[in-house]
Amino acid sequence: MSEDIKPALRKQAADFGADLVGFTTIECLKQSADVAETWDNPFAHAPHLRSMIVLAIRLPLGVAGAADEKAIQNAGGISAHRIESIARKLAYDIERGGALSLVVPGLVTDYQSSSTLEFTPAGQGSKLLRAAAVVAGLGTRGLNNMLLTPEFGPRIFLGAVLTNLELELDRQLPDELCPGLEECGRCAAICPAEAIPRQAPKGASVTDIRNLDEAACATHAQPYGVDKFVDHLKLIFASNTAEQRNQLIRSQTTAELWQNVTVLRHAAMTGCQKCWQACPVGADYDRLATSPHRKDEFPIGV
Ligand code: SF4
Ligand code: SF4
Repeated sequence: MSEDIKPALRKQAADFGADLVGFTTIECLKQSADVAETWDNPFAHAPHLRSMIVLAIRLPLGVAGAADEKAIQNAGGISAHRIESIARKLAYDIERGGALSLVVPGLVTDYQSSSTLEFTPAGQGSKLLRAAAVVAGLGTRGLNNMLLTPEFGPRIFLGAVLTNLELELDRQLPDELCPGLEECGRCAAICPAEAIPRQAPKGASVTDIRNLDEAACATHAQPYGVDKFVDHLKLIFASNTAEQRNQLIRSQTTAELWQNVTVLRHAAMTGCQKCWQACPVGADYDRLATSPHRKDEFPIGV
């Protein structure tokens, strides 16, 4: 197997519904500074699978104008779930051809992390998949570590398939897509959690100041995520009376937590997508900018 099979894999992934497809190898990923920063051996569980096919699906733009935040959250969750289903179909297809494959989920904690904070901001995918997407040439990282793509800016969800097919890696994009805080800063200005850098030395590049306060972001992006779950349990255990305990157990918070775990699932990570909506990177942005709700976004500028 070689370069020849890549067009067929791209077509098959597109037929299954993927909007973006990129290829990389374990060797290449291990050399990536972004991967090395966080994982010393992300493929420890499947060392026999040497190539990775990185997949992305776009978020429908109509989501942006929805008045109900839960509708926005759920729309993100549906797309995040869909890319995993596309990856699964591609994996079976690869195995029908005689090779081996393994789906890498976008929203399952990596081998070293036990925290869902790694899915901030907005649940695009794990840090591993975002780093892999950069290496596979799908995009570059924005000011707050979200993946930006030339086609859809940050408005995408990631999935991946590991395989023993020997695939040539795609080229990384040569330049950063994010112009940085000084020239843009829209994500930092709109972030309700103030989780994105708002100050930087004059002339600082995006690589100098790129950062995200993940815990702050999670209060909005994962409003009923793990942290909220733990806090709620602490309150229940610390109740002084049976009545107080019953009130907490029967509360709206318990109902929201249950719904996020059992019904919304992937959407538990996609509670806030404001930085996605404000980011001007992406060929889709002009269409997004025509949505009436965007007009009042920055009434006094950034
Ligand atoms: S805008 Fe929302 S998702 Fe983006 S960094 Fe801020 S809180 Fe997180
Ligand atoms: S909104 Fe602007 S500063 Fe933020 S990631 Fe997008 S391009 Fe970069």
